[in-house]
Amino acid sequence: MNELSIVHGLLKDLQDESKKHGVSHVSRVHIRIGSLCTIVPEALTFAFETASEGTVAEGAEVNVGVVPARGRCDKCNIEFDLDMDTSMFVCPQCGRTAAELISGREVEIALFRGGS
Ligand SMILES: [Zn+2]
Repeated sequence: MNELSIVHGLLKDLQDESKKHGVSHVSRVHIRIGSLCTIVPEALTFAFETASEGTVAEGAEVNVGVVPARGRCDKCNIEFDLDMDTSMFVCPQCGRTAAELISGREVEIALFRGGS
């Protein structure tokens, strides 16, 4: 996955959010990425720092958190982690392949307002 194109998308969201809330400068951003996204956190941080120049997030501290991939079994109504060996969601109770992926593919950004 291309970190820079992701960052451009996130920055656009950030600008829109800032404008909506009248925020002129963002001091800290937190980015959550799903573990199934093939994103390198360090590369994402670097891309963000580079791309945010001249935006409300210029100079902001960047935190990247990885959200573990989880699936859900409809039959047992339980949630469980991805089996990293097989890269498959197999229900530990009934052995079925999970019907639903509940996390692991998201890329989300949260901003923290800074002083002007
Ligand atoms: Zn099950």
